[in-house]
This record gives sequence, C-alpha cells and structure tokens, in this order.
Amino acid sequence: MQHKKSRKSLKFIIDDWIAIKKNPYILFLIIILLPLIYFLVYSTGGIKFVYSHSMYIPIILAGIFYGPYVGGFIAFVAAILLGPLMPIDTLTNEMQDPVNWLYRMLIFILVGLIIGYASNRLRKDADHIENLISVNQETLVPNTNHLKKIYESLDFSTYSIFTVLINNHQNIIDILGIQIYHSLIHQIFVDLKRGLPEKSYIVQSDSNKLWVMTPFNDLESDVKKVITIIKETKQIKNVPLYVDFSIGVTTCHSFGECKTVTVFEDSDVSARHAQINNLLYVIGDKEKYKRRTDYELLASFNEALINKETFLVFQPKIDLSTQKTFGFEALTRWNHPTRGNIPPDVFVPLIEETKLIHTFTDWVLKNALIKCKEMMNQGHNLPISINVSAKNLYDPKFYDRSMEIIKDYDVPTHLIEFELTESTLMINPKESRKILQNFVDQGIKISLDDFGSGYSSLAYLTQFPIHFIKIDRFFIQNIVNDHSMLTIVESTIELSKNLGYKVIVEGVETKEVADLVISKGCDYAQGYYYAKPMTSKDVSEWYELNS
Ligand code: C2E
Ligand code: CA
Ligand code: CA
Repeated sequence: MQHKKSRKSLKFIIDDWIAIKKNPYILFLIIILLPLIYFLVYSTGGIKFVYSHSMYIPIILAGIFYGPYVGGFIAFVAAILLGPLMPIDTLTNEMQDPVNWLYRMLIFILVGLIIGYASNRLRKDADHIENLISVNQETLVPNTNHLKKIYESLDFSTYSIFTVLINNHQNIIDILGIQIYHSLIHQIFVDLKRGLPEKSYIVQSDSNKLWVMTPFNDLESDVKKVITIIKETKQIKNVPLYVDFSIGVTTCHSFGECKTVTVFEDSDVSARHAQINNLLYVIGDKEKYKRRTDYELLASFNEALINKETFLVFQPKIDLSTQKTFGFEALTRWNHPTRGNIPPDVFVPLIEETKLIHTFTDWVLKNALIKCKEMMNQGHNLPISINVSAKNLYDPKFYDRSMEIIKDYDVPTHLIEFELTESTLMINPKESRKILQNFVDQGIKISLDDFGSGYSSLAYLTQFPIHFIKIDRFFIQNIVNDHSMLTIVESTIELSKNLGYKVIVEGVETKEVADLVISKGCDYAQGYYYAKPMTSKDVSEWYELNS
C-alpha cells in the first residue's frame, strides 16, 4: 500500500516537472513576483496592511501551471517571506507572533495544493477527452483527427506517404471476428511504430486503411521497409494471421510542387491501383496519375454534354475603326461537379485525341448557332466564330454534318466563321485547302487562329482560302516591352493586309496595347480590355450597353 502511494506521488512530481519544462516563462514570472510582492508589502508598512493578499497570485499561478508540489512549495516560500521575514509594522519593526504566520503558511500551502490537484485533474480529463477524439477506440490507433492536429506542423516535403489497404479485412472479420481484426490493426500499428524511424506517424483513416508517414529516404527502400514490417507474421491470441495488403506510396512532390491537400488522395489512388492489379505496391508517378485523371475526364465528358455541365461563353470581337462589336467567338466552359471549372486548354486536347471531338464540335456549332439566331431575332446580325479541330476538318463527314446543322438552325452562312490553326492546315495542306474551299463556297468565313505560334510563312498560307489572320496573344501581350515582338506584329499586319487578309489581334488587355495595335493598322481586336468571354445572358446585356 505504502509502496503504491509513493509511486503515485512520484508520478505527480514527474508530472509537475514536465509541466515546468513545458512552460518555463510562467515559473520565471512567479520567481520575480515573490520578491516584488515582498517589497510591496514591506514598503507599504508591513503585514498588517492589505497588500499581503497579493501573494495569492504567484501561489495560484504555480498551482495552475505546475501542479500541487510546485504550488505547495511556492506557497511555503511565500509564507516565509510574509512570515518571519516581514514585520507587522515597519515603523515599529514589531515582528509577528509565530502562530500567526504558521497559520498563514498552512492556508497558503493548502491553496497551492488544492489548486495544483484541481488543475492536474482537469488537465488529465482534457487529455482523456482528446485521446477519445483522436484515437480509434477499437484499435487504439490514432485517427484522422490526430492527423489534423499534426498537419500544420508537419513538413510534408520531407516525408514519404503510404496508404496501406488491408485487402482481406472482410475475410478476417467473417472468420475470426471483429475483435481479432481490431487487435490485428493495433499490432500492425505497434510493429510499424517500432520498426520505422522515430518521426514516423501512423493514422487509421478507414476500417481497412492506414496512412503512414515516414521521413523520406528513397521511395523504393521506404516501401520495402514498410512491407517487411507488415509481412512479419502476426499472431493474435495465438492465432497466426495472414494479411493480404496493397500499398500505394507517394510524396507530396510526385505530381509537381508539394501538394499537401491531395497527397493522401494520391497515395490512396496508387494503393487502389495496386489492389485492382494484384500488386503489392505502386509508387505513384506523375504520368500514370495524369493518364488516369485524363481518362476519368474523358469518360465523364459525354455525360457532361448531356447534363449541361458544359456551356458556351462568348467573347466580343471589336472593329477597331468604329470601336463597335463586329462579332463573337464561342468558347466552351466545363463546370465539373466535383472538380469545378476545368479550362478548355485541359479538356479540349484530350477530346481531340478521340472520336468525341466530333460530338463536341457539333454541340459547339449548334449552341453557337442558337445564340446567333437569338441575336438575329433581336435585330442584331453579328457573325459568330467557333473553333474547329484538326480531327474535325479531316473527318469525311464533317462538311455534310455541319451544313445540315446550319440548315437546321437556319442561320445564314455569312454569319458563321471557323477558326483553325495553321498546324491543322499543315497536316495535309492539299486536303485541307479542298475542304476549306467547300465551306467558303457556301459563304462560311475562315480565320487562321494563333498565327505566329507555328512555323509557316504568310506567303505559303496564301494558297488557302482564308479571310482573317488572328495574331497569337503571346505576341500581343509582349509588344509593349519587347521590341522584336512589336516588329513581328507590325510586319505581320502589313504583309497580311498586302495579301488581302483582315487582321485580328487577340489578348488585348490594356489601353496601351489597344492604342498601339490601332496605330499599326490592325482591323479587329479581342481581349480582356474590351470584354472577357461572357455567358449567353451576360453577353446580350453587354451588347445592349455597348452597341
Ligand atoms: P483560343 O481559340 O486562342 O481562344 C482564345 C483564348 O484566349 C480563350 O481562352 C480566351 O478566354 C482567352 N483570352 C481572350 N482574351 C484574353 C486576354 O485579353 N488575355 C488573356 N490572357 N486571355 C484571353 P479559353 O477560353 O481558356 O480557351 C483556350 C483555348 O481552348 C482556345 O484558345 C481554344 O484553342 C480552345 N477552346 C476553347 N473552347 C473551344 C471549343 O469550343 N472548341 C475547340 N475546339 N477548342 C476550344
Ligand atoms: Ca480561337
Ligand atoms: Ca487564339
């Protein structure tokens, strides 16, 4: 009994000592307060005046922050300072009766002890609650709440991140029961904790999933270490268990810059990849990941068209001689239900690689014509342009299909413009010339998009039936600061005009650039300075105000 008691008090002393180490500044404050209060009491006339009660401050502080032992000790020192060392009245220098200061000492020490015990108790309760929240109570493995706590302080860039999936967890539960399964997870946790470097963290993020973070060494050897530890035979209550598991491993750098938000998703994806393909582990790599997300995007695109996740926006083109709107370019937006806005630069190139590009461009054409018709009905005959991909142009059915759609939507062909890049034309110049000519014969206008981004010379392009040259925004955005860009733009405008083309500049973002391209004789402009691409409704409102 005696032995147990002394062990308990030893534990309290250790607790108090740990508290001091955690909060050394408060101790410093207490040590300063003791003589200060002593001098306050002394200089205000001695113990018989009211200032002596100030001594409760360091005693209470000591109790709260450092527990009963330090609280009691500080109370003892305080009682000595205000006891045999303090006269009743400094004028007469009359000392206190020992009974007085001994009684005060008793009260001080009791206050220090009581507050110390109470605060230790509260601290323990708080720790207990914290433990309940951040530790899985069945497996006694930290859970994702624990991860949230360390998340901010952890430097992810120095860690390898693992997802460990227990593939046969349902089997183990069915055959041996849930208790054994929980003990197994606990055992794996303990083994990993013991076998991995000290600064490793293990979190149970799902019933059959652990996340392991271990200081990065190299992925290949880190994953081998984890595998060896999990593979060690696990015996729970003398039952040997076979654990079938899959591991995904990644670092926050695997997919470019350190992305802490998605790092666990990435390792989960790799782990699932390992699971599906019956592999022990998969090291997440950028290419594979990109291919997978690309595939997912593609797979959902058809649905997106049907579910109206995609819609067109319209960017005005300005006639620089009149400063009036001369037409619109239709551009696609995709508002994905989980990923948010996906820019066309991301999804269009993916679609272009598949047959979906035909369905897509038909959809763009139809919706652009709907808008064009709507404006016509309001009395505004404004041309609309759509972007046509290489696969479209060389699709033998593209011409017939497009003409049919145009007929169906009853829009005059002179209000329709196709934008194509020079690289599209260069795939098969002879063929593309023929196809373009067919469209032009019907009255459709052709724009050469992104001019300057390829290598063809304007002179070579004269063989194609083209009406407009759109100078790539890369040149326009640099013309103010880069003299060579200005020279290129200048000579492109001049040569285009000599060859009979109209010139559009895209990416005009400032008045300075607008004035400059006007002074160089450019015909049309498009860019944020005039208007950003707008939804169908917004563009109509914008047009009403700006026409
Ligand atoms: P693009 O055909 O060169 O379209 C012009 C792009 O420049 C648009 O980007 C437009 O929003 C942006 N832009 C316009 N003015 C400014 C400006 O002042 N500053 C800057 N920084 N950008 C400006 P968006 O809509 O993101 O489209 C990017 C590309 O994706 C398009 O380039 C086009 O190649 C493709 N795309 C977009 N919609 C479609 C579509 O419906 N069909 C096809 N085939 N391609 C499309
Ligand atoms: Ca374009
Ligand atoms: Ca362009």
